[in-house]
Amino acid sequence: MLLSLLAACTPCPTFAETVTTDPDGVGDAAVYEGIAQGIADFAAWTGRAGVCVPEVQVRADVWPEYPSVIGRYQGSGEPILVEPEATEVARVVRHELCHALDTQEDHSAPNEDLFPTEATPKSDLYPTDEARSRETFADACEAEPTDIVLAQVLGERCSRDLVPAPTRYLHETVWTGVEPTPISDTPRDIGIIATDVTLDPDLYVDGVAGLDGALVLGVNWFVLELDRYVTGLVRVDTTTGALSARIELPRDVEHPGQVVVAASDGDVVAFVQGETLAAYRVDLDTGAAEPIPLSGLPDYVEGAAVSEGALYVHGYAHRACVTGWCTEPVLLAYDLDSAAPIDLPSPGRVWSVRPAVGGIEAHTDAGFARYERIVGTWDILPAPYGIGGFARLSEHERVFAYAHGDLRGTVVLDLEARSWHLASDPCGTGAFGGRWADVGDAPYLLGGYYAEDGAPVPLYALSPA
Ligand SMILES: [Zn+2]
Repeated sequence: MLLSLLAACTPCPTFAETVTTDPDGVGDAAVYEGIAQGIADFAAWTGRAGVCVPEVQVRADVWPEYPSVIGRYQGSGEPILVEPEATEVARVVRHELCHALDTQEDHSAPNEDLFPTEATPKSDLYPTDEARSRETFADACEAEPTDIVLAQVLGERCSRDLVPAPTRYLHETVWTGVEPTPISDTPRDIGIIATDVTLDPDLYVDGVAGLDGALVLGVNWFVLELDRYVTGLVRVDTTTGALSARIELPRDVEHPGQVVVAASDGDVVAFVQGETLAAYRVDLDTGAAEPIPLSGLPDYVEGAAVSEGALYVHGYAHRACVTGWCTEPVLLAYDLDSAAPIDLPSPGRVWSVRPAVGGIEAHTDAGFARYERIVGTWDILPAPYGIGGFARLSEHERVFAYAHGDLRGTVVLDLEARSWHLASDPCGTGAFGGRWADVGDAPYLLGGYYAEDGAPVPLYALSPA
């Protein structure tokens, strides 16, 4: 009794005062780093000074009765216990800190509608309704907060409820340290000037790139005589919509592979993914495809860009995790003449890339990022959450696609003003998805990867004016 009274009178430790200890000697550098990251993220996202946690203890077994439990919150002023799971420990620390925040500020009990008891099954571990509701809250609170501004703006404009109620609550009361990315009130109009570049229904298109006034598509098509699919490239004249001869790439796989295309200044590089990944430099005039011996490519290529003799590739390296398969995002650069790797600092997780003067532009989890080889560092501008691929709309504007609920549309980034703009009619539900490419200053959008019901795959040309 006396002890608990004393504890109640002791000021709560701040995050800066929280120490990490390892009484069982089972942690390593990765574990300590994960704990520090978990605390730092939680402090930044919540904007709080602390949640009354004096210590995070690395323990061989945090709760012998429950072997599957790898983190444990024991009450206000008590150490949080975590097991040395390097890939999980930051999330586990955030989860237990969420319990501490709930204990201190009482979020779960008054909000049973948002964090329902039923979402956590009754068990020996969570025997009471209160324990179950607290666990539901901690499960929601441990997640990385996503920027909800675009969903909020679209929801207001288009009379939709695009932000789930628990997410809205967490943003308003828990993740108050997160800086939102503003969307300008000034709309930027983009017109669809042509939808007449339709493709053969027997072409399965999954890559698109702009090259010298034309589009290059990475495709699969069925060859009757061979009784199999082949992978290759076709060129589309954007003025006439005419397709050039199909160039078959030297692959012989039972199932068609994905073809990722990157093109710039006469160079076309195609990545073909079937059972394994191969890269080719393709001459579109002669149809010659020469393999490029790139070392250390990711297991799965998501996108690529060619810019001034350099090739940039992003994708995923699969690696075994403690609890299953994990994917690790990778961005690599190569000199196209020598195929030698080029040093490139990481801009975080990369979603898409396109060529730019002197380097590349990328959409990353930190925002819109620009890299010039001479400068050697990334210039990053925060981006709203929920946007996808992008293309060039004008010299200083980039257009991004979004999909929020059933809404499909575009947002424009003005690089001069460093501001984001919605289109004047943002409530459409059209087929904006797929992959982007730009030819000169005209962005093209491949509407969907595959034709449905044998219908031609549409390419949308978007007007900058
Ligand atoms: Zn929990």
